[in-house]
Amino acid sequence: MGNVDILNRQILNAYWIVAAMVLAVEIMYFLTGYGNAERYDIASLLRRSLLVFVIAGLGELLYKAFRRHGRQIVIGVSLTLAYVNYLNLSVYMENAPGILLIFPMFVPLIYFDRKLLDLFGVLNIALYTVFYFAVERYFYDRGFEGFLLMISMLVASLLLSRTVLVRAIEIGRQVEHLTQSQQDLIVDKAVSQRMLKTDALTQLYNHVTFYEYLEDLVDQSERNGLQIQVAVFDIDNFKKINDSYGHLIGDLVLKEVSIRIGMNISPNDFAARYGGEEFAVIFTEKSIEESAAFTERIRAAVESANYSYMGNHPVTVSVGLCTYEPEDTAEKMFSKADAALYRAKRSGKNRVELYAAGQDVAVQRR
Ligand code: GH3
Ligand code: MG
Ligand code: MG
Repeated sequence: MGNVDILNRQILNAYWIVAAMVLAVEIMYFLTGYGNAERYDIASLLRRSLLVFVIAGLGELLYKAFRRHGRQIVIGVSLTLAYVNYLNLSVYMENAPGILLIFPMFVPLIYFDRKLLDLFGVLNIALYTVFYFAVERYFYDRGFEGFLLMISMLVASLLLSRTVLVRAIEIGRQVEHLTQSQQDLIVDKAVSQRMLKTDALTQLYNHVTFYEYLEDLVDQSERNGLQIQVAVFDIDNFKKINDSYGHLIGDLVLKEVSIRIGMNISPNDFAARYGGEEFAVIFTEKSIEESAAFTERIRAAVESANYSYMGNHPVTVSVGLCTYEPEDTAEKMFSKADAALYRAKRSGKNRVELYAAGQDVAVQRR
């Protein structure tokens, strides 16, 4: 159910409450013997009250049949109810309270629709004019000054309603504008946060984020025994690629390698561009054998990718891999992987080397 449907439902419910209240008031009047005794008998009482229920019921039926015109029906019923109640009260009051006829002037306000307000406002004024000359003037002896007073009250309430509506629409627009600005801000913030965390060329995480994440995971390993491995990738002879084909082609190779890395890790692994032509991956919840297999898959994927834009010049990576051992820090882990990488370079490149316990490690500064 849309918002307007809920509103319409609530107002239609209110009409039933009005009908019940009219009946209660009529019965009270009857029991206390108040009012004009000549015009007041149980049959006309029931007729009058029943009419109010019939109108509320008719409103329901029309609303069900013509849901598309729900607003017009809801306002139309309020107008009809107003006149019927006005007429009912005229039976035992000298001058029925004009407030009853003013009430429907405010019902269209809830739809924020100026046309609807104007239409029913003018209709209400026209209806009262007809009602006065056809009924009130003759049957209830209402003077012309009473008519003028009522008309001016109706016009004034229509103008008041219009002012309230214009103001409400204005505020609605301001709120809409603010909401839009707020949404823009949220999007901007998300974009800039992403920019802070990632490398612009490859869209992988950057150096800073790599260490943030690695420190967290090392912490987890220390406390909960989470298995982690770090792999450091370095493109072989990259300087030559730059020198032979230019930096732009070099950048394309960096992108290609980052895509191959991204394609060959699990969702819980973390790939970063460590710097220049070096990449790092943190593997989580895997044995060293599994991580070695992933790393080897990446190495092979880089080697077999198509580099047609540089005449299929070969691109390979050397990789150093290590696993977390108690008391390792983030820096220590990176240095261990880097030491293994150094070995891979020295023993011919395009290969994965595992860090061997006791191997020389110069703990690097970030
Ligand atoms: P090795 O096999 O020993 O790793 O040799 P290498 O040539 O890859 O190593 P070296 O460290 O001598 O060269 C890395 C080059 O990477 C130098 C630098 O100009 C280039 N480089 C670093 N960042 C970028 C970048 O963002 N774009 C491009 N096109 N080149 C970059
Ligand atoms: Mg390098
Ligand atoms: Mg290199």
